[in-house]
Amino acid sequence: MTRQTETLRDVPALLAAGLIPPERVAELEQVAAHYAVSLTPDVTALIDAADPNDPVARQFVPDAAELETRAGETPDPIGDDAHTPVEGVVHRYPDRVLLKLVHVCPVYCRFCFRREMVGPGKRHSLSRAALATALDYIRAHPEIWEVILTGGDPLILSPRRLREVLRALADIDHVKIIRVHTRVPVVAPERITAALIRALKVPDKATYVVLHANHPRELADAARAACARIVDAGIPMLSQSVLLRGVNDDAATLGALMRAFVENRIKPYYLHHCDLAPGTAHLRTSIEEGQALMRALHGRFSGLCQPAYVLDIPGGHGKSPIGPSYLRGSQGEGGYVISDFNGGRHSYAPAAATPCSPRDLQPD
Ligand code: SF4
Repeated sequence: MTRQTETLRDVPALLAAGLIPPERVAELEQVAAHYAVSLTPDVTALIDAADPNDPVARQFVPDAAELETRAGETPDPIGDDAHTPVEGVVHRYPDRVLLKLVHVCPVYCRFCFRREMVGPGKRHSLSRAALATALDYIRAHPEIWEVILTGGDPLILSPRRLREVLRALADIDHVKIIRVHTRVPVVAPERITAALIRALKVPDKATYVVLHANHPRELADAARAACARIVDAGIPMLSQSVLLRGVNDDAATLGALMRAFVENRIKPYYLHHCDLAPGTAHLRTSIEEGQALMRALHGRFSGLCQPAYVLDIPGGHGKSPIGPSYLRGSQGEGGYVISDFNGGRHSYAPAAATPCSPRDLQPD
C-alpha cells in the first residue's frame, strides 16, 4: 500500500485506503455517525491491510460491534462529570486535578473511555474565559500539587497556546508537577518540534509526558525519534496502555511493548483495564486474564518493564491496582505464603514486629 499523506476522517476514506471492504460501509457509517473516526498517515502506515486481525487497525478502524452497548457500559464510565467543580477541571483525588483543554485528538481510539465527549461536534474546547475560571480554581486550592493535561490530546494545541497554559500553571506556587497525557509522539510525531518542547519546559516545575501506546509496532522509527527529542530535552516520559483483546492480550506482545518503552527511556506506568465505555465489549478482556498477563510479565521481563495494572472504578471512585497478589496469610495467622515468579510457594514467618498504632497507617 502506498503511504497515505492525508488523515482518514470518514468511512469513504477508509474504503479508498483499502482498510475496509465495500460490504461493511453501511454498518460502519452508523458507527461513524456516533463515534469520531481519524487515522493519521503515521497510524495508517502501521496497518497491514491484508491482515483482518491487525492489532493497530483494531484500535482505530471502526467495527460494527461498537453499535452494541452492553450492560454496565455508560457514557462517562470513570465518572469525570461527578468530580467537575468548574468546566474543564476534574478534581477526584486530593493532590491533583485533570485539566481538559481540548476535546479533539489527532486519532480516535475505538475503546476511548471519553468517546462520548471527544471528537468533532462533541464537547467544546475550553474557552479563554473557562480556562481563566479553571486556573482560578487551581489557584484557590493549595492542596493541588499536580495538574494533568488530558482531554482530548493536549499536544494537538499550538506550541504558543501550550506555552501560555503551562506558564500560567507554573506561576501557581503550589503546583509543582505538570503531567501531559498524549498519543501525539506515536500518531503525529512531526508535531514534536523544538518549539513544542520549549513550551513544555517551564522554570522550576517538573513536566512529565505520559505516552499512550498499546502495541509494540506503534514505537516506529519516527515515534522513537520524537520520544528521544522529548527525553533528550530533560523531560521524563512514562507510559500508559490499555489492555485490549486482540491487540496486546498475550504475554509476548505485552512484554515487547513494555520493552519498547524502556528501550526508549519511557518508564511503564499504567496498564489500564479497558473501561466500560459504550460499544467496547469486543475489546475488553476479563480481569483474570489481565492478572495472568501481569504474572507472566513478572516472570519473564525486567522489573523496569512492569506497569501497574489498574481499574478505574465506575462512578468516579478513582483508580485501584488490580494486579495479582503474591502474598497470602498474615502475621497473626503465624506468617505468610509468598509465590515466586515461577509460581513456587514459600513460607515467610518473621518474628513478630512491634505493632504500630492504627493512626500511623492513616494517610496525612
Ligand atoms: S487519544 Fe486518548 S482521548 Fe483521544 S480518542 Fe484516544 S484514548 Fe480517547
